[in-house]
Amino acid sequence: MSWIRKGSREFMQEINKAYVLTVLRERAPISRYDISKVTGLSPTTVGTAVKELIEAGLVHEIGSGESKGGRRPRLLDLNGKGGVLIGVGLDSNVAGVMDVWGQLLYKTPPSRSKTGIIMPIPHVSDLIRQAIEGSGVSKDKIMGIGICLPGIVSQPAGIVTYSAVLGWKDIPLKSMIEEEFGFPTFVDTDGVAIAMGEKWLGMALEESIEDFIYFYIGRGVSVVIVVGGQVYRGFKGTAGEFGHTTIDHNGPLCDCGGRGCLENYTSIPAILSKVDKVIKEGRSTKLLELAHGDPDNITFDLFLDGLEQGDPLAKEIIEETGHLLGIGIANLVNLLNPQMVIVGGDLVKAGDLLISTIVKECKERSLRIPAESVKIVPAMSLLSQVDAEILGGGTLVLQELFKIPNVIVGR
Ligand SMILES: [Zn+2]
Repeated sequence: MSWIRKGSREFMQEINKAYVLTVLRERAPISRYDISKVTGLSPTTVGTAVKELIEAGLVHEIGSGESKGGRRPRLLDLNGKGGVLIGVGLDSNVAGVMDVWGQLLYKTPPSRSKTGIIMPIPHVSDLIRQAIEGSGVSKDKIMGIGICLPGIVSQPAGIVTYSAVLGWKDIPLKSMIEEEFGFPTFVDTDGVAIAMGEKWLGMALEESIEDFIYFYIGRGVSVVIVVGGQVYRGFKGTAGEFGHTTIDHNGPLCDCGGRGCLENYTSIPAILSKVDKVIKEGRSTKLLELAHGDPDNITFDLFLDGLEQGDPLAKEIIEETGHLLGIGIANLVNLLNPQMVIVGGDLVKAGDLLISTIVKECKERSLRIPAESVKIVPAMSLLSQVDAEILGGGTLVLQELFKIPNVIVGR
């Protein structure tokens, strides 16, 4: 009978505080009176919640608002300096510190790439320590640690069930880090964390979007489906492997065992091998010149340089990729009717040509009503995977802090 427990006084106070915080996030600066009007909570309840939030350093008074006849009401705002969150991204091997507004205050210097290296667990602790020491933040301001990684994480226990990249299997990361540092810790897949970063801090925040798809195109291709503000994870937590949708049943063999998966045509490695193949067939391109005549020197950054300089091959490949991704996204738009599709991952650095091709293709190929209403936008964090991972990690803490149980808001 959990709802009886949920009705306890202490629990109600926690709910009220979370509700007040959420209203502040969305509408600050705002007075206690207006919070009471918006939430329907009594002025006394709001007063108690605000008092506790001020004492906790999360909220502060910033001056007086317009008088509506009586005393000028004092306005409240979130205190950006009140508390900080630690975000860790294990794909990019970074940790950072951000405030409750998602302002990145510090990040660890880039360290050597860990590609192909099995990451030892103590390394995660080292990253966290580096972020705390490097930022000089006092420990009593740290509200929690959020860690995102490439792998499958079992929730809410925060156990990394499997990560091929890190070489981990059944690692109880959440409890290990909580035991070592003593802060509430949350662990999730990086795609999920970055998508939630978009919801809390980025594109989806601006219009309070609750139903959206985060479409990631980088080393692989995957999607995060957010329904009513919550991530849809599937029965065993593996939902979102859209990159393994078959687009040619006679196509090349994929790592997953299937053939002709979308990922084999549209991921960054797929693009680079396409470039390599075409060059070996004798096609002339500026890319080869930029690579000093050696096709092995063609990295994705160099490909982007070529694209920027108007190389016809680079443009052609991006258009072809955008065409295929647009078809893929049209299928998702028909299936899920999202408000927004946020396109993220390093491929987005290809810019307008990619996004406009995706939008055109998707709008042409999806059904009228969902096609008219969906917005397709590049991710906020498109310029830096590192920042996206840190902010995504921090968001894992942020969303717990502002979590309002369904019982109150009626979602
Ligand atoms: Zn596959």
